[in-house]
Amino acid sequence: MTAPRIEEKLFQNRYLVDAGRPHIRIRPHEKPSAALLAMVDTCPAGCYLETDKGTVEIVADGCIECGTCRVVTQKTGEIEWNYPRGGFGILFKFG
Ligand code: SF4
Repeated sequence: MTAPRIEEKLFQNRYLVDAGRPHIRIRPHEKPSAALLAMVDTCPAGCYLETDKGTVEIVADGCIECGTCRVVTQKTGEIEWNYPRGGFGILFKFG
């Protein structure tokens, strides 16, 4: 028996969007730091994207609250990171 793929496990989770109240925000910038730019490839939920202008945007829907972006950009201060309000965000399903 083979172990399930990580994508299959993540698919079991559900996400409740808190419309208009994203729990992670990127501060306005013209050029992202290397740390912020790295999140485009390292966020496990694919929440970060690079725009045509070279800036970085986030769509926090689907965030699994791993905290990677919070740690990686801690020194640059480019993001505001909070947990979602109670009842919103990722709903983990185990098993
Ligand atoms: S906390 Fe994790 S999943 Fe959520 S946006 Fe940051 S890196 Fe992506």
